[in-house]
Amino acid sequence: MNTLIAANWKMHGDLSWVTKPSEFRECYPLNGQKVEILLCPPAYLISAMNVACNNQLISLGAQNCHFEMQGAFTGEMSAQMMRDGGASYVIVGHSERRALFGETDKIVAQKADAVSMAGLTPIICVGEDRSQRESGEADEVVGAQLQSSIPLSADGENLVIAYEPVWAIGTGLVPTLEDIAAMHDHIRGILSNRFGVKMAEKIRILYGGSVKPSNAKEILALGDVNGALIGGASLEMDSLAAIAKCVGS
Ligand code: PEP
Repeated sequence: MNTLIAANWKMHGDLSWVTKPSEFRECYPLNGQKVEILLCPPAYLISAMNVACNNQLISLGAQNCHFEMQGAFTGEMSAQMMRDGGASYVIVGHSERRALFGETDKIVAQKADAVSMAGLTPIICVGEDRSQRESGEADEVVGAQLQSSIPLSADGENLVIAYEPVWAIGTGLVPTLEDIAAMHDHIRGILSNRFGVKMAEKIRILYGGSVKPSNAKEILALGDVNGALIGGASLEMDSLAAIAKCVGS
């Protein structure tokens, strides 16, 4: 499977950022490497970037969507609208959305279902907070999030999981390599129980939380790490390219 290097730009960027895909390719020409580059800009940029990205071999994604396809939901956008704009992925259940916008596992599952129904791939985010890590509950918390955030309708096809310990996001703190490996192994086990070993092996599990060019190589070399979800270090294309270059290096 291709390693997925996914950039979560959060609420950063402006219209001039539509040239970022070309800028990225100047730093990292995509020539058949086993890497998929995914840019998730603010939603209003997806369509313009899709035009600018044409034939650039770079995928586009959204950072959120509503779980309904249409309706009286002022200020919201549906997964189908994201697809219309050119997205092929939607991040759901990012810890900022869970913490700041009250998204529960149930809502995350509804959103992931809507994303799949629209023909896109959900990237479902899970991860423990600092106190849960310190009290030894991380496995249990992430297990429960996975059980309830993956929709009942899912069959494992076109599904990506992002393990993002909340305490590592934007803090510069990163779990030990052993802890990352153990959590990804735990997640793979849960996916195997749910979808069978063969299907679970095809599901990409990303690590996210303070990934940078300086630590990406060792994280991406771990067996069950199939890519990274990157916030801060994805805003500059030379930094994102330096991370992508770590794949298989
Ligand atoms: C994120 O927000 O998904 C993230 C991983 O952020 P950062 O890389 O800045 O920790």
